[in-house]
Amino acid sequence: MRKTIIAGNWKMNHLGQDVTITVTSLVQRISPDVKPEIIIAPVFPYLPQAVELAKDSPVHIAAQNMHWEDHGAYTGEVSPAMLTDIGVTHVIIGHSERRAYFNETDETVNKKVKSALSHGLTPILCCGETLEQREAGVMQSWIEGQIEQALSGISAADAEKVIIAYEPIWAIGTGKTATAAQAQEVCALIRRKLASLYTEATAQAVSILYGGSVKGSNVAELTASADIDGGLVGGASLKADDFMAIINGAVVK
Ligand code: PEP
Repeated sequence: MRKTIIAGNWKMNHLGQDVTITVTSLVQRISPDVKPEIIIAPVFPYLPQAVELAKDSPVHIAAQNMHWEDHGAYTGEVSPAMLTDIGVTHVIIGHSERRAYFNETDETVNKKVKSALSHGLTPILCCGETLEQREAGVMQSWIEGQIEQALSGISAADAEKVIIAYEPIWAIGTGKTATAAQAQEVCALIRRKLASLYTEATAQAVSILYGGSVKGSNVAELTASADIDGGLVGGASLKADDFMAIINGAVVK
């Protein structure tokens, strides 16, 4: 069901002590009836710790990646069964950093989305274009292709459970935010693509987030846009003060 979501992607940051301090601070400051759904994604070793600290709070814990198989000879990988076993509820899939540095493809993204859904994990499916693609005028076909391939073979009922994050690569960690109009244009494009792959009802049920230098000062304008249902936040999710400013500034439609 479409809802406002603020998700923090901590990437490869924070040691155990920082995880404890930050999650504890968020849990203390986020009221139990907070409107946006709150998700944070620490690194694998601290997931059990984060799950325990966030227990009985509105904060959900996500992994930043997973393998699609349950178990087997995949050295260095973590399975969806392991994530659910420790109480993780969400998983980021296909982040542009994984696509760029770790060979993630639309095919592996599709396998991971299917596998996450079959384990009851909510995928946060990332898509986004490079600056070169935007300037070459191929952004639309690129984004549509990423969505179509990621959701290939996935039923409408399952597609409605997926959270999509539109993250223009040129805006990630650069301090360069897409304007609300640019972000809205692509989130609307993604929703139209969902309607063509499924139905308008399915498209309206999916939460579509914007990611790329979201901060307290721009979250209201971004989330006020018709098709932007929240934010996937990197740098500004690492400190509780900055993340709270985003949570408190988000427009819940
Ligand atoms: C991200 O990595 O998902 C992201 C959006 O990062 P930042 O907010 O730092 O641009």
